[in-house]
Amino acid sequence: MKNQIVRAKCEDMTIEGHGVCKVDGLVIFVKGMIIGEEAMIKIIAHKKNLAYAIIDELIVKSPHRITSSCAVAYKCGGCDLRHIKYEYQLELKKKWLSDTLRNVGDITYPMPDIIASPLSDRYRNKVQVPVSDGKMGFYRTNSHDVIEYDDCLIQSKRANGVLSYLKKRIFDDHVDSYFRHILIKEGFVTGEMMVAFILRQEDFNGRDTLVADLVKTFPYISSVIVNVNDKDTNVILGDKEVTLYGSSYIVDELDGIMFQISLKSFYQINQKQAIDLYKEIKDKAHIDKDTRILDLYSGIGTIALFLARYAKEVIGVEVIKEAVENAKENALINHIDNAHFYYDDAKNDMGKYMDDIDLVVVDPPRKGLNNKLIDTIIQKSVKEVVYVSCNPATLARDLAIFLEGGYKINSIQGFDMFPHTTHIETVVLLSKLKTDKHIDVEF
Ligand code: SAH
Repeated sequence: MKNQIVRAKCEDMTIEGHGVCKVDGLVIFVKGMIIGEEAMIKIIAHKKNLAYAIIDELIVKSPHRITSSCAVAYKCGGCDLRHIKYEYQLELKKKWLSDTLRNVGDITYPMPDIIASPLSDRYRNKVQVPVSDGKMGFYRTNSHDVIEYDDCLIQSKRANGVLSYLKKRIFDDHVDSYFRHILIKEGFVTGEMMVAFILRQEDFNGRDTLVADLVKTFPYISSVIVNVNDKDTNVILGDKEVTLYGSSYIVDELDGIMFQISLKSFYQINQKQAIDLYKEIKDKAHIDKDTRILDLYSGIGTIALFLARYAKEVIGVEVIKEAVENAKENALINHIDNAHFYYDDAKNDMGKYMDDIDLVVVDPPRKGLNNKLIDTIIQKSVKEVVYVSCNPATLARDLAIFLEGGYKINSIQGFDMFPHTTHIETVVLLSKLKTDKHIDVEF
């Protein structure tokens, strides 16, 4: 079957962006094929009841297909949807969110349209590129081959310019073998930029000259950091950090609040869209000057400080020390005194933060919530829960447990934070159904 070329029609698309075709009972996933398209497809791998294929020759083209504007889109593993019109990408994401909630969580919900990203290109304020085998670029999907590129369309021109400069310098100076990654963070509102060298060892010959030349060439760089990672691991950042130039953090602004952001701290990648997402939380949840909020997975305190302006008190909990320090400092510099931050792991008992809490906001990484945390929220009968999710599959799994535990879905809203990629961000508002203890008994 491998290498065989067959004619097929694309009936569906998976959440990874692959076309789904059926030929003689065999399900075939076809990279880059769009619903409705017909093509001669070439099988590249074949397992029991399913196969993987690539398009050999397109016969019937989707009206939603466009020519990709990026030379490396399907190699670098970043933008899997670049050949699809943006409006249709949003339709697909709406369908994928609906399908996943139904298939994984048995949840049917009338899905509103996905909210488009204010910027569909150049929206990323963070870039990290590996340096390996004499190359600097992005990893090919599921591999450690480095794909080089000149201009990445979802990154800022400034970041691409700094990367091109560094690429030339470190290869010309023959110091590339000291580098593991280069990471850039930008404050799109303030214009500040952090450049981090993730090195195998702290120093190399010519390092300080390189830094001096770099900041002279790009005056908006406000922070240069060396992070040392000598471990044989897939984790990008090591423990040791030295600031070589400027500050150990950059500052950016979200909806009038200033945020200090350290190298290790999470900051929303698509800053403009993050503001809309935070507004959605504020608009949908019931928040007033009597509301006490618990923000779990609080990062540098973005959601907590955003909501603190409308609430009585907000407590934030976060596991990265540097992020907690940023969050505390961010409360101070913005004179927000009703937000308090704790360094703790959401795997621990979170019940101790939940006394008198009216609203819990959770914004976990892709793996979602652990059952213990969901059980604690249910046990504590918290009135409202806002679930911010970057992974529909774990969202669906977790929502099903909340529904079992006496919660109902009040709203679901998808956001496109990452145009041209298959990622979907979702905000769900859950509220506790009335339980016996809350029902007034009439005599
Ligand atoms: N709400 C923030 C951050 C969301 S990203 C914002 O909008 O900017 C998810 C955050 O969860 C990251 O800061 C990460 O460090 C944190 N995190 C990951 N695992 C955690 C855990 N087990 N306990 C607490 N925080 C965790």
